[in-house]
Amino acid sequence: MPKSSAQQRAVVVGAGIAGLASAWWLERAGWDVLVVERAPAFRAGGYMIDFFGPGHEVARRMGLLPALERRRAPISSVTSVDSRGRKRAEISTAAYEAVADGVISLLRGDLAEVVRDDLRAPIRYGTTVSAGSEDGRVAFSDGSTGEFDLVVGADGVHSRVRELVFGPSSSFVRYLGHHTAAFSFRDPELSARIGYRYQMLTAPHRMVGCYAVRDGSMAALMLHRSESPRLPDSPAEALRERFGDLGWVVPELLSVVPEDVYHDEVSQVDVPVWHRGKVVLVGDACGAVSLFAGHGASLAMTGAHVLVEELSAGFDGAFDRYQARLKPAVERTQEFGRRFVGWMAPASAWRISVRDMAFRLSGLPIVRNLIRGSVTPDVDGVLTPA
Ligand SMILES: Cc1cc2nc3c(=O)[nH]c(=O)nc-3n(C[C@H](O)[C@H](O)[C@H](O)COP(=O)(O)OP(=O)(O)OC[C@H]3O[C@@H](n4cnc5c(N)ncnc54)[C@H](O)[C@@H]3O)c2cc1C
Repeated sequence: MPKSSAQQRAVVVGAGIAGLASAWWLERAGWDVLVVERAPAFRAGGYMIDFFGPGHEVARRMGLLPALERRRAPISSVTSVDSRGRKRAEISTAAYEAVADGVISLLRGDLAEVVRDDLRAPIRYGTTVSAGSEDGRVAFSDGSTGEFDLVVGADGVHSRVRELVFGPSSSFVRYLGHHTAAFSFRDPELSARIGYRYQMLTAPHRMVGCYAVRDGSMAALMLHRSESPRLPDSPAEALRERFGDLGWVVPELLSVVPEDVYHDEVSQVDVPVWHRGKVVLVGDACGAVSLFAGHGASLAMTGAHVLVEELSAGFDGAFDRYQARLKPAVERTQEFGRRFVGWMAPASAWRISVRDMAFRLSGLPIVRNLIRGSVTPDVDGVLTPA
């Protein structure tokens, strides 16, 4: 779309799924959009997400489903293994797909890349906001400044926009007692040995999972309980200390943890009002649901769409309408997530056995029908009919 003097200007802070999707919808709605991203370059790969629900429908409306399908990871099962790699319990993804309609498993980076590739707006990497106010004036870390009609804070759980305009993180972030780490690396031999199965080893309060991704690469996820949300100075070293005594392929994984590994507290975000003046939050910045709930990527895509739909219906009251449509679904998903906090890294060997038993049972069709409504939160009604 050509720029005109009447064209409204938006800055989107954060080029994650929420930010990229917001930019995508804004530019289609005629906005002049700039995206700023703190990372020095696009972050590919990451961890596997199950993408379904309203976000999947939003991706369909964006015409991105064929590209996402091409990135679908061919994971065939989720398998709990013991410290020698022997199967304890398994659920096939076919069984999971029967419960979660239309689910696409793919790397978070692949979803982000598909949206980015369909975006024309410039992305200024290595740039953050150093100051900002609700009147739309922003100062960037590269020394430039700007005045915008709309500032979208899509900068995740530790949002800087939120801190600058809404208040300190401590007022909004609810720590769920765990740290998590995720990284990917190339190892054709290990990749062939593990295969396209999400395999995981669980010890009390700790879980390590890994799976093959395309081209001889692997992705790994680690989760452990921690009383404090404070992150260690050297995450790679801390992970080696925390998981070093576990068997199976864990020593191999620990030997390749990159220094810049994704490592974070597991938290939810609850901001009572998602907007102030010309500034509005989207995605994890206002409503992180945590990995225990899943659905964060789906809600990020949905939030972006609903926000721009409401802006297009009229600027006045748009933020309130956006929040009114989305926040109840976010809150239900957060509540759903809190029910599963002890599920991925249970507190004792006995609880791990109970979890694995539930795994085995959920493969049975009769049980699947019983649990259908309880393994996915209620996010119906957020989207207008297509
Ligand atoms: C291990 C794990 C598993 C998950 N599994 C699932 C799943 O199965 N299904 C699902 O739907 N969701 C899942 N999620 C959640 C999902 O990934 C997130 O909810 C979703 O990606 C949120 O997107 P976002 O864009 O709001 O935030 P983020 O992905 O955090 O993106 C924020 C972006 O802003 C940038 N940024 C941060 N600070 C600044 C700053 N100051 N200035 C500029 N840029 C900044 C960051 O670099 C990043 O690019 C999972 C999350 C994790 C951690």
